[in-house]
Amino acid sequence: MKKTSTHKGYPDNFIKFLGTAGARFVMISQLRSSAGTWITLEGENFMIDPGPGTLVRAAKSRPPLDLRKLDAVILTHRHLDHSGDLNVTVEAMTQGGWTRNGAVLAPPDALDGNDPVLHEYLRSYPEEILTMKEQGSYDIGDLKIETPLKLRHGVETFGLNIYRSKEDERPLISLVPDTLNFPGLLGHFPGKLLILNVVLSHEVPGKNIDHLNFDELAGMLEGREYELVVLTHFGMNMIKAKPWILAERLSEETGIKVVAASDGLTLDLDSIGHDADGGALHKTENGEK
Ligand SMILES: [Zn+2]
Repeated sequence: MKKTSTHKGYPDNFIKFLGTAGARFVMISQLRSSAGTWITLEGENFMIDPGPGTLVRAAKSRPPLDLRKLDAVILTHRHLDHSGDLNVTVEAMTQGGWTRNGAVLAPPDALDGNDPVLHEYLRSYPEEILTMKEQGSYDIGDLKIETPLKLRHGVETFGLNIYRSKEDERPLISLVPDTLNFPGLLGHFPGKLLILNVVLSHEVPGKNIDHLNFDELAGMLEGREYELVVLTHFGMNMIKAKPWILAERLSEETGIKVVAASDGLTLDLDSIGHDADGGALHKTENGEK
């Protein structure tokens, strides 16, 4: 049976980007928030990559989002800008450890490496702790989440395909977090909505930075059939280049609707694919474009 959404003031099914900061300096300066991404879909609530500020941003969100209502916390990789509020988010999901609840899904080195990011004392709080693997498939309520392959990002990093029901052939949402581009990358992420972490505006010559850059996106998106692409997780040079202008340019170049996330951006997931005019863009919270 489907649960009903209990978030007053939000669509039944939605994604909210509590933060859009990527990499160190934007996080440290909080030029943009480094909080995570909230998804409510088919009554399941989950938080992806609860970076620093997630607890505060969720509570101060308009309307507020209550981390106690989470059913799962998903970590794409262990870097601090993704995991800073992981422990407090797990504590909230489990009512301070009083109610065994929810799932944690994370890569092996985030859970069991030499320097895991989930505190030992919290590990009995969630109902389950799931270790990501290549071609992994995980059930969260009626939803299915897949982690097709390891990405290229120094630490163990996985992208996500989120299916609205276990029977669906095409994911509703594909999320490609921090990674270097490589041939065939997007072929593994065929969601109707594609979320791309784009830290860099252009390649930095001589530096081996394991991130996507804006200049390579048009080539990557060529011939692909996304209904909406959302760029997020911006480093300093992306912010200076005004991501909303870059997104517009990319839309024109590719014919695919591309938008740049801003802190607080909320998308109605039921309008993905039904609204060519970008009606999926529900609202932004801080007046940014
Ligand atoms: Zn990273």
